[in-house]
Amino acid sequence: MVKLPIPYSTQEITSADISAVTKILKSTFLTQGPAISALEKSFATYTDSNHCVAVANGTAALHLGILSLGVAAGQKVITSPLTFAASANCILYAGAQVIFCDIDEETGLMNLDILQELIDLHPDCKGVIPVNYAGMSTNTEKIRKIIGKNKFILEDACHSPGGYFIDSEGDKVKSGSNKYADAAIFSFHAVKHIAAGEGGVLTCKNKKIAVQALKLRSHGITKNSHELIENHGGWYYEMQALGYNYRLTDIQAALALSQLQRADQMLARRKLLAERYLHDLVNLPLKLPVISEEIGHAYHLFVIRLAQRTELYDYLKKQQILCQIHYIPVHLHPYYQSLGFKKGQFPKAEFFLRNMYKYPFISFYDG
Ligand SMILES: *Cc1c(COP(=O)(O)O)cnc(C)c1O
Repeated sequence: MVKLPIPYSTQEITSADISAVTKILKSTFLTQGPAISALEKSFATYTDSNHCVAVANGTAALHLGILSLGVAAGQKVITSPLTFAASANCILYAGAQVIFCDIDEETGLMNLDILQELIDLHPDCKGVIPVNYAGMSTNTEKIRKIIGKNKFILEDACHSPGGYFIDSEGDKVKSGSNKYADAAIFSFHAVKHIAAGEGGVLTCKNKKIAVQALKLRSHGITKNSHELIENHGGWYYEMQALGYNYRLTDIQAALALSQLQRADQMLARRKLLAERYLHDLVNLPLKLPVISEEIGHAYHLFVIRLAQRTELYDYLKKQQILCQIHYIPVHLHPYYQSLGFKKGQFPKAEFFLRNMYKYPFISFYDG
């Protein structure tokens, strides 16, 4: 028997997770202890990245990513409108200008032809934040070719831990890795693959970016003797930049690290569920996601599109099966409208929401 109601998302907490957390509760450090660096090390290995900085949440990771990559007020950064608002908000946090790049109608990822046009139109833009919508890795090799060496790629990989694409050299380029991207971010929010309640990480290529993010994570303060301008002994510290309190607790880090140990297992389970949906829903009047072996999908969302979206949503809700619409394009939110963005400006993302293929969409969590 299926247990009702079926929530939008359920986390899996094992006895190993509980002991990992309990161990921290009985230890010396609740925050800034050894679990943080253990998580950072393991996550860097998991994503094939050079450096990893653990922070309070995915949004904080985006904010520190933007700042550490050197984005300043007035500069331009490109992102997708088909995403959670945080991918664009981080650009505004830095006082910079959001430029939306409309999507590919089939995948929901950034449309690379449109990206090329935008780069031609805004040669002064600082970088791009592609979003790995639903769990599909963006082809950062192609983005790198379009934008050149001097602009950054900050991959919003919240949907795609464990995901990858195959590049033209035949390499498996993992989400969060540094072959083409300068940095990437992940979230450990309760509905994400690794569910630590809250939490996130920034992975990055260069040590300089990691060092800056580390500093900004904790008020812009450093105690590292090689970074100090003056030095008055072991107790001495300096605030060198206007930072934040974006620290992760050791309690969350231990929970995230424990789940990371079985990330591959959990991904295999998601894949199995997706295959079951693909198989069982095939004869219904739905547009199902295109998931091919070589994409290396991370199966965060299983997005279906259909004509009677609202009717299906209401029907499922009545059956106590919860799902959600992903996403209202960011530029349609009242706040972004107040910044001057207009309805109709990014038609492909809007069609995705409305009725392009006569299939608006609804997304299920694996639950
Ligand atoms: C969840 C999510 C975020 C934000 O992560 P938080 O940990 O909730 O701050 C950013 N971008 C995308 C695409 C997300 O799904």
